[in-house]
Amino acid sequence: MSAVIDKIIKKLEEEKNKKGSLPQLLEFYQNLLRIESRLGTKIAPPKPRLTKKTINSRLEQGLPLLGFDDLALDRSLLQEIYTEVSNLFARYPALFSPAVEKLKELDPGGVIAPDTLKAWFEGARLPLATSLDESEEALLNNIILASIKPFLTSYAQVLLPLVNQERWRRGFCPICGGSPDFAFLDEERGARYLLCSRCDTEWLFQRLECPYCSTQDQNDLAYFTDETGTYRLYVCEHCQRYLKAIDLRQAQAETLLPLERIYTLDLDRQAQERGYLPHDKTTEIK
Ligand SMILES: [Zn+2]
Ligand SMILES: [Zn+2]
Repeated sequence: MSAVIDKIIKKLEEEKNKKGSLPQLLEFYQNLLRIESRLGTKIAPPKPRLTKKTINSRLEQGLPLLGFDDLALDRSLLQEIYTEVSNLFARYPALFSPAVEKLKELDPGGVIAPDTLKAWFEGARLPLATSLDESEEALLNNIILASIKPFLTSYAQVLLPLVNQERWRRGFCPICGGSPDFAFLDEERGARYLLCSRCDTEWLFQRLECPYCSTQDQNDLAYFTDETGTYRLYVCEHCQRYLKAIDLRQAQAETLLPLERIYTLDLDRQAQERGYLPHDKTTEIK
């Protein structure tokens, strides 16, 4: 993962040099990745205690490989990442105001307390969210995601090679249970892969099924493409959700998927203008 992060940082740097400056959102994103890259190298490679048998039986039952209790989080490192990440968000009031003002009052120890992180991981309401409004809570969820992401991706690197792609094919991440927020059609066959919104795991999924509500009713499923045929916007009339995708058979240069999320924000705007909803960030595991 860190290789991808470093490539994105470099690509944005080239873009900055060419144009003189970056749009604020991309500059923010580059700074966020710099924190994740620098502090992410301090994360010890995880050694999940999962036997081959447990892995197969979890996948067979449709359970992701990581539950919250399986995560060994170095709390002082997590606090260090959280502090840097939340300070970075605060440096961009034009992007995150006014919600970011309120979050400055939160005690970092409370945010990274195990019960808060567990609630976040399981998609429940955060215990300290009672004092926050909807946009403040959404922003806090994003800050927690950015802080814990380096840990989740380090697990994903170790665990994903153990997943049989053909046998999973579910609408949520086989590693962390997160929901997908991006997709791509692969270069070889145009097979559709989903990208986890939390740990960036890529997994194989049916082309003609909605990952969010599992409908396969073709009357409910459609997609729009841009004029180059590179990007797609999948929409579902059954659950009203949308999914952005890139067709790698059409893409010109090397594609850095996490960066495509940001490059395609205009697709989010178009989808939401048409009345579709973004993915539900929470895990699908009930
Ligand atoms: Zn995941
Ligand atoms: Zn749906």
